[in-house]
Parts: sequence; structure tokens; C-alpha cells
Amino acid sequence: MSQLAMVNENIRRAAKILDLGERIEQLLLNPNREVKVEIAIELDNGQVATFSGYRIQHNDARGPMKGGLRYHPTVDAEDVTALASLMTWKTAVVNIPYGGAKGGINCDPAKLTQRELERVTRKFIANIREIIGPNVDIPAPDVNTNAQTMAWVMDEYSRFYGFSPAVVTGKPIDLHGSVGREEATGRGVAFVTADLMAELGRPLQGARVVIQGFGNVGSFAALLLHQAGAKVIAVSDVSGGLRRTEGLPIPALFDYAKSNKGSITGFPGAEAISGDAVFTTPCDVFIPAALGGVLTADRAAALPAGVVIEAANAPTTPEGDAILARRQIPVVPDILANAGGVTVSYFEWVQNIQQFHWDIERINGELRSLMTRAYQDVSQLAKNHNVPQRTAAYVLALGRVAKATVMRGIQ
Ligand code: NAD
Repeated sequence: MSQLAMVNENIRRAAKILDLGERIEQLLLNPNREVKVEIAIELDNGQVATFSGYRIQHNDARGPMKGGLRYHPTVDAEDVTALASLMTWKTAVVNIPYGGAKGGINCDPAKLTQRELERVTRKFIANIREIIGPNVDIPAPDVNTNAQTMAWVMDEYSRFYGFSPAVVTGKPIDLHGSVGREEATGRGVAFVTADLMAELGRPLQGARVVIQGFGNVGSFAALLLHQAGAKVIAVSDVSGGLRRTEGLPIPALFDYAKSNKGSITGFPGAEAISGDAVFTTPCDVFIPAALGGVLTADRAAALPAGVVIEAANAPTTPEGDAILARRQIPVVPDILANAGGVTVSYFEWVQNIQQFHWDIERINGELRSLMTRAYQDVSQLAKNHNVPQRTAAYVLALGRVAKATVMRGIQ
């Protein structure tokens, strides 16, 4: 099943519970606008290369659309549409005043120089400049794009419309970015883990945590859960895994990965395991923080975990999800668990508009209160409707977007 089919199935299920009717359901399923542009650039060797760029704007009923920009050879319109739709529901779950969008370019950044990447980015932004803007659609980083990419986005847009830092988030801190943005998604993951464990009456102190993926999200989630007293006993990345039953020395591993091009390979003082072994290591908390679609039916049936916190986007297949539900393993869904990143992106946009900088205490405090409120809303709805948290999160989000759509009027 494609990622888009998975997201649409969740939308339909929630629309039925809310009894929204066919007309509103169709409005919420389909994106407002799909744009595809051809990007032709001159390579450093004088040859010309062309790429396809997409910006899919899913829904703007609750505010300007918000969503990342992904550079990957497999990017296509359908996947970008699924990710744009996820952003509509994620921003609604945490109740920040945005809709959802996503963008992508089907290039392989590993095969392009920095100057070529800059040309690709500038050409794309020049092409779509009329459909983005601080009050319209605000891009952010995603897979293979970073603060430097966002600086080029800001500069290119500003060449046409004057200095506009609020057109994009995830910028470098020295260029109107926000403190706390880098670790925000991992911090949000740690917050909802603590909330779920407290709700279940299980201690976080000493809880055994296993994490797939040790990139931005996985490494910060590991660090913050370690600081909260949990015991991270196994982690993996694309190169393999590490395990230590008495708990990995996470701060040392965090520094090691930073100085080792992001990789955990070769870290001393831990047993080397295969990447797949994270799915069979007994734990209290399992956190997929790498790819989509990894918790398949087979893995879900055997997963020796107490709870699952979805840090990655769409890590559980519908079949895997049904099995986890049957096994009564609670799952905090992606649109809630990984919403910390877009929430601090929202704080960055607010600071840019106010032209006033917040300190790290304020950022983390506001993030804590938004995530706690969202967790409580979802958990309460799950209990009221006797449904898993994923369905409850979609019910909460669809309810908010549908209400805004109807109040604004459907002509
Ligand atoms: P990243 O590129 O920084 O890290 C990805 C990690 O996954 C790396 O450690 C990589 O080695 C690992 N990985 C890749 N393939 C793997 C495999 N086959 N087995 C095990 N590990 C593998 O990416 P990120 O920003 O940390 O994003 C991780 C996930 O979280 C993605 O699904 C992303 O869409 C989602 N997400 C990220 C953010 C954010 O703010 N960065 C926000 C919301 C959702």
C-alpha cells in the first residue's frame, strides 16, 4: 500500500467517526494545489542537467501552509502529496495556525556540488515564488536539505520581494533561525514518551529504550530520554546497530557520531549488532526514527516492546498497526509524536514576524506546553471513542480542519 493510500485510509476512518459527509471528506482528501516545475541548471562542468520540482499545497483552512522540502532521487508527486497531507493533520493536532504542504526535487544531492545545489534551490524557488510567502506557504528542511538550503531559499525569495526571513524556517541561527529548532523533534518525542509512560503508570526512570535511526531525530531523542533517566539499550543506523543491556553511554555515542560523519559504526564499549536486531531486542519503549514502512506485519507480530513512539513519518504499515493494536501495544502516532519540529518552526516564524528573539527556556517551555496539551487531547479522545491514539489524532485534526473549512464557507 502506498504512503498516500495509508494516509487517506486514516482520513476516511476519522471522517466516518466524525460523520463529516462525502463532500467534506473529498475536500479533506484532495490537495488544494499541485505544482510541478522543470529545473534546468548548468553543472560545474558546463553540461546542463534537468530535474523535476514539486510543491503540493494540501490545505490552508487553518492558516498558511507549512511543510518541508525534500531532495531525493525517488521524489514523486504521489509521495509529496502524502507528506503534504500529513502536515495538514500534524499542524492541526498540535493546534498551530497552519495548513499543510510539502515540496521536493528528484535530485541526488550526493552527486551535486554545493554550487550546483545552490543553483537547483534558487531556480526552484524563483519558479514557485508566486505560490509561497510568509502568509501563504512556508517551506522548511526535510530529508537532505538543511539550514544552508533554507538560507538560499530566504535569499532568493528576498531578491524578488524584499527582506523576508518569515518565508522559510529551519534557517541558520545567525540568519534569523531559532534556538532549539535542531533538537525540537527529538525533544517532542521525549515529551510524549514521558506523557505516555506516566499515563500507563510505568516508570520512565530505568525504562529500556530501543531506537532505530541515530540521525537528527533519533540521536536527540536518545540524549533527552537518557537525561530523563531512561536506559537506551540499543540503537541502529544505516550501517548497523549497537547494544548494551546495562544502557549505552549516550552522551559519548552522540559526540562519537558527530565526529564520525553521523555514523555509529566502530563505537567502542558496546556489542555490535545487525540493524534488524533492534526489532527483536526486548524493551519497554521502541522508537522508529529512520524510515517509513519499517514496522511490517512480521516485525509487529514479534516486536518485544511495551510501547511504540513513532518518531519517523509513517513507520508502521496498516497491517503492522492492526497487529500492534491486537497485541494491545500502545502506539503514539507520527502526527503527534514528531510534531515538535514543526512546532518550533512555528516559533521561528513568530519570532521573524515579531523581529524579536526568544531564549531557549521560552522555546522549550512553549514546546512542552503545546505538546502536553496535544497529548492530553489525543489521549482523551482515544478513551472517549475507545480507539487507538492514531485514529484519535486524526479525529482531532480532521475535526479542527473541517470546522475551519465550514466556518470560512464552501462556495
Ligand atoms: P536523518 O537523515 O538525520 O537521520 C536518519 C537516520 O536513519 C540516520 O541515522 C540513518 O543512518 C538512519 N537510517 C537510514 N536507513 C536506515 C536503515 N535501513 N536502518 C536503520 N537506520 C537507518 O533524518 P531525521 O531528520 O532524523 O529524520 C528521521 C525520520 O524522522 C524521517 O522519517 C523524517 O521524515 C522524520 N521526521 C523528521 C523531522 C525533523 O525535524 N528532522 C520532523 C518530523 C519527522
